[in-house]
Amino acid sequence: MSPAASPILLTPGPLTTSERTRAAMLRDWGSWDEDFNQITRRIRQRLLAIAAAEATHECVPMQGSGTFAVEAAIGTLVPRGGHVLVPSNGAYCARIERLCATLGRRVTTIGYSESQPVRALDVEQALTADESITHVALVHCETGTGVLNPLHEVAAVTARHGRSLIVDAMSSFGAIGIDARSTPFDAVVAASGKCLEGVPGMGFVIVRRTVLEQARGHSHSLALDLHEQWTYMEKTAQWRFTPPTHVVAALDAAIAQYQEEGGLTARGARYARNCRELIDGMRALGFRTYLDDSVQAPIIVTFHAPQDPAYEFRTFYQEVKKRGYILYPGKLTQLETFRIGCMGQLGEAGMRGAVDAVAQALQAMGVRP
Ligand SMILES: *Cc1c(COP(=O)(O)O)cnc(C)c1O
Repeated sequence: MSPAASPILLTPGPLTTSERTRAAMLRDWGSWDEDFNQITRRIRQRLLAIAAAEATHECVPMQGSGTFAVEAAIGTLVPRGGHVLVPSNGAYCARIERLCATLGRRVTTIGYSESQPVRALDVEQALTADESITHVALVHCETGTGVLNPLHEVAAVTARHGRSLIVDAMSSFGAIGIDARSTPFDAVVAASGKCLEGVPGMGFVIVRRTVLEQARGHSHSLALDLHEQWTYMEKTAQWRFTPPTHVVAALDAAIAQYQEEGGLTARGARYARNCRELIDGMRALGFRTYLDDSVQAPIIVTFHAPQDPAYEFRTFYQEVKKRGYILYPGKLTQLETFRIGCMGQLGEAGMRGAVDAVAQALQAMGVRP
């Protein structure tokens, strides 16, 4: 396919999918049909297995983009009198704060610079200082910058203090290990169109069975009620409202390819090689990364924009796009940056192509990084 017809998406979802995943969407499914119900069952089981959570948790899918599933998790699992602690170091943490406020759940934040990871010690101090905090909501990989937060340490502290942990693992699930047997969590939220390399359109929550059982009636929302979705699905094997059938079929195909590739270890290693290739190549062109390598997740990289007055993001974006690659704008308010994702159906050759496209775009613009 020519670059103009199908660019490579270097964005954190939607991302570049395989031909086989796209082909899985070429037939229609009846939402009541047993064949489709089997796909739903298989996906739920395999997602649980990726987190080693079969013995303790349930997987509840939810229609919509990832945020719908985060909203469903918080609305269903945090009772109306609950109090959520958000260690906050980026745009997706801020989205959770806003979400809690919108739902009328009390929220307290620990503020960090966007270049710094969350510290488990700060969470511990906050939990000790305020007995009324019932939940901690942690973003595992903060996609706003690409910083990796210490999930395991925060989980251990939260469990030790007898509080409940909800993890937004949207951009890490499937590539960075989360093991329910050693990392205690009540809910992990992710979506079809991220590291599993499906297409966007459904999220899912891996939620501790005992917690889910007690969550009846918490939700403020009819459609985003995880408990209702779960009980209906258990009873009928069907989704409660119209499922995104083609998205579900594509995710099923994407998970099959994930397993053939070698599962989490192989996916994580490929993204790590992509990330290395990208950072080395961009540094060789003179670019600087926003984050220190020690806190960088191999998911998405934030680069400082060139200082050259001839640089302008829209033009840069268009020039790179002409060469077959789609970049992502920065999400920082104070600094001019842009982001390049390492995820999706591409390897090191794809990343090298992206770096070449960036080099050519700069030359076309007369910019020196
Ligand atoms: C992608 C993403 C989400 C969900 O965003 P949507 O726009 O709803 O898909 C949530 N949290 C993180 C960390 C993400 O990367």
